[in-house]
Amino acid sequence: MAQVMRTMKAFLLLDFVTAFRLAMRYFFAPKLTINYPYEKGPLSPRFRGEHALRRYPNGEERCIACKLCEAICPAQAITIEAEPRDDGSRRTTRYDIDMTKCIYCGFCQEACPVDAIVEGPNFEYSTETREELMYSKERLLENGDRWEQEIAKNLELDAPYR
Ligand code: SF4
Ligand code: SF4
Repeated sequence: MAQVMRTMKAFLLLDFVTAFRLAMRYFFAPKLTINYPYEKGPLSPRFRGEHALRRYPNGEERCIACKLCEAICPAQAITIEAEPRDDGSRRTTRYDIDMTKCIYCGFCQEACPVDAIVEGPNFEYSTETREELMYSKERLLENGDRWEQEIAKNLELDAPYR
């Protein structure tokens, strides 16, 4: 019996020493966690976040109402209505995205011939109500105006791989 007790004590001591060594190693190792939301990790230029509609530098909407994004969306989250302007150009009168349906596949962005609809870098847009996730054209254009610098940079970085 005394022999068994001695063996158990030896094992316990060994376990403690191993655990202590492991704890000390990770105590002084660089931290893998960050203090979100005060700190944020890096994002890939291909990150697919909140949608945005972009404009040209002169303020004109990029979207030409071709409806390719609406057609390709597998979740049928996009609704577009369009009509010609007086100058003959075609523009949307309605561009809605139901963000509760969106699966963030990025097909809308891939299909767009003029880089108008994009998934930007913003991932902090949680809401308290479902209604707030029904995005209108105005909301999408506002997103585009707000994030244009980051979006343009990400598109430029990703261009060589497309
Ligand atoms: S990311 Fe995909 S699911 Fe979402 S709106 Fe675009 S095409 Fe539709
Ligand atoms: S966002 Fe792009 S794909 Fe969609 S209707 Fe406008 S131009 Fe066409």
